[in-house]
Amino acid sequence: MDLDRDDLDGDLDVAVVGGGIAGLAAAHAARASGGRVRVFEAADHVGGRMSTLRVDGFLADTGAEQLPERGYDATWSLLAELGVDRADVPLIGRRVGMWRGGRVRPGVADALGLLTGAGLGLRARLDARRALGSGHDLDRPEDSGTATVVEHLARYHRDVLEYLLQPVVSGFFGWRPERSAAGPALALLGSVGTASTWRVYPDGMDSLARALADRLDVETSARVNEVVADRDGARLVVGGREVPARRVVLAVPAPVALDLHANPPEREAEFLRACTFTPVVKVHLLLDRPLPSAAYLVTVPRAESDVVSAIAFDHLKHPGRAPEGKGLLTVIANPVLAPRLARLPDADVADMLTRATEKFAPGLGEAVTGALVHRFRHGLPEATPRALGLRAGFDAALGSSTVDYAGDWVLLSPCSEAAVRTGLRAGARAVARRGELV
Ligand SMILES: Cc1cc2nc3c(=O)[nH]c(=O)nc-3n(C[C@H](O)[C@H](O)[C@H](O)COP(=O)(O)OP(=O)(O)OC[C@H]3O[C@@H](n4cnc5c(N)ncnc54)[C@H](O)[C@@H]3O)c2cc1C
Repeated sequence: MDLDRDDLDGDLDVAVVGGGIAGLAAAHAARASGGRVRVFEAADHVGGRMSTLRVDGFLADTGAEQLPERGYDATWSLLAELGVDRADVPLIGRRVGMWRGGRVRPGVADALGLLTGAGLGLRARLDARRALGSGHDLDRPEDSGTATVVEHLARYHRDVLEYLLQPVVSGFFGWRPERSAAGPALALLGSVGTASTWRVYPDGMDSLARALADRLDVETSARVNEVVADRDGARLVVGGREVPARRVVLAVPAPVALDLHANPPEREAEFLRACTFTPVVKVHLLLDRPLPSAAYLVTVPRAESDVVSAIAFDHLKHPGRAPEGKGLLTVIANPVLAPRLARLPDADVADMLTRATEKFAPGLGEAVTGALVHRFRHGLPEATPRALGLRAGFDAALGSSTVDYAGDWVLLSPCSEAAVRTGLRAGARAVARRGELV
C-alpha cells in the first residue's frame, strides 16, 4: 500500500473512477475549482478506449481511429486550452470506401459520395440523403425517435441499409442495425462532416488523454471495487483501502458503473441496466510491407463477409503508424461474430480474421509478421430503443446525487466527443456543488 497516497486520500473533493477521456475531462473541469481531485484508473495507462499500443515502432490505436474537424466542439476547445493547434492534428487526406462487387468503392462520408455513389445506384443515393435527414442533435438523440436502424430504413431503397448504414454502424460502432436505434447514429453522422476533414493525432489516439493526465493527479493500476454514497459524500473501496470523497464521478461504461455503485437511486439504476454495450474484437496485423488500398478505411457489408466488418490501413492513415517500409492493418470483426471471438485464443482470432481479410487485401497472408488481438468487452454503447427512451429522464437528474456519471453512453453516442462533453459537464457540476458540500 502506498502510505503517501493513503495519507492524502483523507480529503478528496472529487474522486473520478476511470482514466478514459471522459474521466480525464471531468477531472480537468473539476480542478478548475482548485479542489482536490484524483482519478483512479484500473489499467497501468490512461486512455481507455482511446489507447495506443507501441510495439517495435508500430503505433496501434486499439479503440478510436480518428476525429473529425466538425461536430467535435468540446474536444477542439479542450485541445486549444492545452495549447494544441489544429495543425498539430493533421488531416488524414485519404478516402473511406465501401467494399462492393469485388473492389473498394471510395466515397463513403465524402462530399462527392452522392455524385460518385460509393457503390450506390442513383435511387439509393437520393434515398440515402433523405434517410440521413438533418436537424439531429447529439445532445438529445431521443428527439429523433426510437426506431432501430432497420426500422428507420424500411421505406428506403434496400441498398441504403445493406450497402451504407449497416456496414457503417457495424464497422464504426460495432452495432447490429436490428438492435440499435437510428437517432444517435444520424446525429453523429450528420455532425461530423465529410471524411476529407477527418484528422488523426500523429503520436497516437491516446495523445489527448496523456496530455490531460500530465496535468492531473492520476493513480494508475488502481481498480475501484465499490462506490457507496452516503449522507455526507461517498466512499470508494480501492484495492484494500477506503477513500472518502465529497463527490464521485463514475466515468466507466454503464455496465461497470452498475456493478460498482452499491446504492444507486432506482431511476439511475433503470437506465444503467438498459444501457448495454456491444463487444468489439480487433486484430492489428504488423506487416513487412505497406499494402496498397484505394481507401484508408474500408467498410465491409454483411452481404460481402460474415467475419470482417471494417479494415483500417493504418500506414495510410498516418505514415508514423508503421516503421519506414512496413505496414499496419487493423481488422474489426463482424459484430455478430464478436461475442464468440471474445472467448477464443488470440492465435485463433488472428488466424480467422487474417484469412477472411485476404480477399480485401491481396497478399496479406504473406506480409504478416505479427498480430496483436484486442478485445473490448464494453466496446461501444449499443443505444437500444429502450435505453434511448429512458435517457432524457436520467440526464435531467444528473448532478442531484453525490455520485455522478460521465462517458459516451450518457449521450448514447458511440464517439469520443460524447465522452469529452459529458466529462466536462460532470466536472463542472462537481465544482458547482462543491460550495454546498464543504
Ligand atoms: C473499436 C472502437 C473504435 C472507435 N472509433 C472512434 C473514432 O474513430 N472516433 C471517435 O471519436 N470515437 C471512437 N470510438 C469511441 C471512443 O473510443 C469512446 O467513445 C471513448 O474513448 C469513451 O471514453 P470513456 O472515457 O467514456 O470510456 P473508456 O475509454 O472506456 O474509459 C473508462 C476507463 O475506466 C477504466 N475502468 C474500468 N473499470 C474500472 C474500475 N473498476 N476502476 C478504475 N478504473 C476502471 C478503464 O480501464 C478505462 O480506462 C471508438 C471506440 C471503439 C471501441
